[in-house]
Amino acid sequence: MSDARLSGRCLCGSVRWTATAAPVRNLICHCESCQRATSSAFAAFLGFAPHAVQWDGPKTDYQSSPGTWRGFCPTCGSRLYFRSDKWPEEIHLHAGTLDDPAAYTPDRHVVTAERVPWLDQIDSLPTDDGFGVAPKR
Ligand SMILES: [Zn+2]
Ligand SMILES: [Zn+2]
Repeated sequence: MSDARLSGRCLCGSVRWTATAAPVRNLICHCESCQRATSSAFAAFLGFAPHAVQWDGPKTDYQSSPGTWRGFCPTCGSRLYFRSDKWPEEIHLHAGTLDDPAAYTPDRHVVTAERVPWLDQIDSLPTDDGFGVAPKR
């Protein structure tokens, strides 16, 4: 990847990050922990060397298992990163926080044994450009 200045922010904007080097991983993780931590079906990550990420704003973290931390904004709750003593040379930032979502190109699915089964069906669902579908009654 040529863009060495990827950047992102949380929902409220009080925490920002800027990468000074290219990502070393672009993973979509399907593990149950990522599903629960992000309240979503999977988590898309960019992996960087920890020293290649500059942070601006107050962030905090939750130790989800011994030696593993999941960072988030204490104001709005947006998930920001995953890091673990198992992989001290990397910090994984959530792709959903990118300023430019199009700057992300995932290249691998991981922990697919825990993938939610309904993902198989979503490409065949009806689509709507807006959110204008009335609820079923
Ligand atoms: Zn925030
Ligand atoms: Zn995971």
